[in-house]
Amino acid sequence: MKPQDIRNIAIIAHVDHGKTTLVDAMLRQSQIFRENQQVDERVMDSNDIERERGITILSKNTAIQYKGVKINIVDTPGHADFGGEVERVMNMVDGVLLLVDAVEGPMPQTKFVLRQALERGHKVIVVVNKIDRKNARPDYVVNTTFDLFVDMGANDEQCEFPVIYASALTGSSSKDPHQLTSTLEPLFEEIISYLPHPQVDVDGPTQMQATLLGYDDYKGQIVVGRLHRGKIYRNQSLLLLQNDGDSRRARVGQVFTHRGLQRTEVEVATAGDIIALTGLGEVGIGDTLTDPEHPEALPAIKVEEPTLRMT
Ligand code: GDP
Repeated sequence: MKPQDIRNIAIIAHVDHGKTTLVDAMLRQSQIFRENQQVDERVMDSNDIERERGITILSKNTAIQYKGVKINIVDTPGHADFGGEVERVMNMVDGVLLLVDAVEGPMPQTKFVLRQALERGHKVIVVVNKIDRKNARPDYVVNTTFDLFVDMGANDEQCEFPVIYASALTGSSSKDPHQLTSTLEPLFEEIISYLPHPQVDVDGPTQMQATLLGYDDYKGQIVVGRLHRGKIYRNQSLLLLQNDGDSRRARVGQVFTHRGLQRTEVEVATAGDIIALTGLGEVGIGDTLTDPEHPEALPAIKVEEPTLRMT
């Protein structure tokens, strides 16, 4: 998979503004588009399903196909997270959707997450959702969102955010609040044209940072992250550079990427994609997996212990 055919995004939304409904509609419509385009995609057989059954973590990440582009949607905690998860998610994506209710406008609780995205330099598409509501006030909502961006020190490019008006409920969207089309195509088009693809070197030595960890009863620890450089193969032998300065050989078991709401096993993954690996034994957040011939750690990630959580 070429980096040009990938978009890694996060959706920032206040609770109830419609994130779940939107992702569901995107999934549904991307399948419809696929059927219409007769794209030859391998249908999962029972072996695949069997293989995937063991992997139960991170079911909230979703991958959507649109016109040959894979849109990975990385789930974002909607609140300030003391474990640093928001920051880590923002390091995995290249752009974000800010989903805002057309009546309520942006809510203060999403500021923390938005700030992380803006500081990371990400471009933002503002999606004004629930435009079908009777008392929707799209102009007010866009202006308030703009003020918020300025307050938070967004750069000029970020302040020129495109706006998509949507009704996630009916699966419609538009660049014009008064003329909704009956599909989410305008939103998909904006995602693939406005948000950048991962800027990565697919042919360089392998490098990936363990960014999120999961555990599966059958497969043990699962390491999730964005493949920073190169490729990772099933059963590949890599070097694990640990945060504490130690290192050890680590052999990959299975390699998974996302498809729809499922993870699907692949022989090889390429830089830019969000992947999950099994078989590596105990890995810590921020550890780097590298090519043993070219050991090179990625910058450490600050992880605060949950015990530091303040009440
Ligand atoms: P989340 O908490 O952000 O995931 O929000 P949900 O997707 O669960 O939506 C919250 C509520 O808003 C639900 O009752 C949805 O049916 C409703 N909702 C979501 N999108 C729309 C929309 O476009 N228009 C209207 N009228 N309601 C919506």
